[in-house]
Amino acid sequence: MTIEEVKSNIRDVIDFPIPGIVFKDLTTAFKNPGCMKYFEDEMYRLYKDKGITKVIGIESRGFIMAPVLGNKLGVGFVPVRKKGKLPAETIEVSYAKEYGVDVIELHKDALTSDDVVLVHDDLLATGGTMKAACELIRKFGVKKIYVNFLVELDFLKGREQFDKDIMVDSLIHY
Ligand code: AMP
Repeated sequence: MTIEEVKSNIRDVIDFPIPGIVFKDLTTAFKNPGCMKYFEDEMYRLYKDKGITKVIGIESRGFIMAPVLGNKLGVGFVPVRKKGKLPAETIEVSYAKEYGVDVIELHKDALTSDDVVLVHDDLLATGGTMKAACELIRKFGVKKIYVNFLVELDFLKGREQFDKDIMVDSLIHY
């Protein structure tokens, strides 16, 4: 499958969740096995030689491809979740959203300073969520952080949020 064919499987939903937003709905791509294979193969190609030891997914749309890639790389999956969802002791970080403040968490024993991590989410918009996740991951003193998205909305310039030592890659750009 070509990148243009994958793009044609991503549905635009106008004015969701609020007026003025064009929501990139990936569920229409996920239900197509050709698109799933494209995502899996391209992510694997990007990260197979990076010495990744854990793949981290951001709740909740990051939970779809992160475990798929983790399996393919032969490494484990770690969830970043919204406050109050993880059952054991956690480390948290709060960050400003358009309306109010959000808090995300990792289990205290989820990562070690020996880890090389890939953090995945479905889409990069403003980058606020992923920036907060990277801040949280840094608290573990990991060796290196790679960041991956399926889709990047280039015009929002979200990638400018990240420190220079964090490698950011997206499969599809709009
Ligand atoms: P952000 O922190 O602004 O980069 O975006 C936070 C989350 O909101 C991302 O993980 C996406 O899943 C979702 N999101 C934001 N904008 C859109 C959009 N236009 N289409 C689809 N998902 C979006």
